[in-house]
Amino acid sequence: MLSQKLQAALNDQINAELASAYLYLAMAAHFEASNLVGSGRWMRRQAREEVTHAMKIFDFVHGRDGRVTLAAVAQPPAQFGSSVEAWEQVLKHEKGVTDRIHQLYALAVAENDYPTQTMLHWFIDEQVEEEKTATTILEQARMIGPSNSALYFLDRHLGKEAEG
Ligand code: MG
Repeated sequence: MLSQKLQAALNDQINAELASAYLYLAMAAHFEASNLVGSGRWMRRQAREEVTHAMKIFDFVHGRDGRVTLAAVAQPPAQFGSSVEAWEQVLKHEKGVTDRIHQLYALAVAENDYPTQTMLHWFIDEQVEEEKTATTILEQARMIGPSNSALYFLDRHLGKEAEG
């Protein structure tokens, strides 16, 4: 059975994953309003993935005889600036998520909760991938600079990637 402390922290993480989904959905709206439909599609896919992350923890808590309690999801911003600025925010956000996952893991270790540690291994690996992907796209957006024609091709590329 989960300790009360760990159960509360896992519930917080469910909320954080849903807040990530909401943030990426706001970014999808931002990009789509700028006709960057490929980037918008990429963000929509990201938002769906974040919901699956929340559900992994949701299912885990119930599997451990715990209780999921849902809290209000933070309101995301409506504007994210230029393409480079938006991708900077993605990378910053993912680094924050990584810190959260690591703190959660440290708590699972402190509580001697081995199943939670095993479950979190997937999230630790996932965050390495998330940061790598966000860094690559951010660096590509920086390379492009103010070129609208190059941004058009990056947007198309991201749209294709989000399809696959
Ligand atoms: Mg996530």
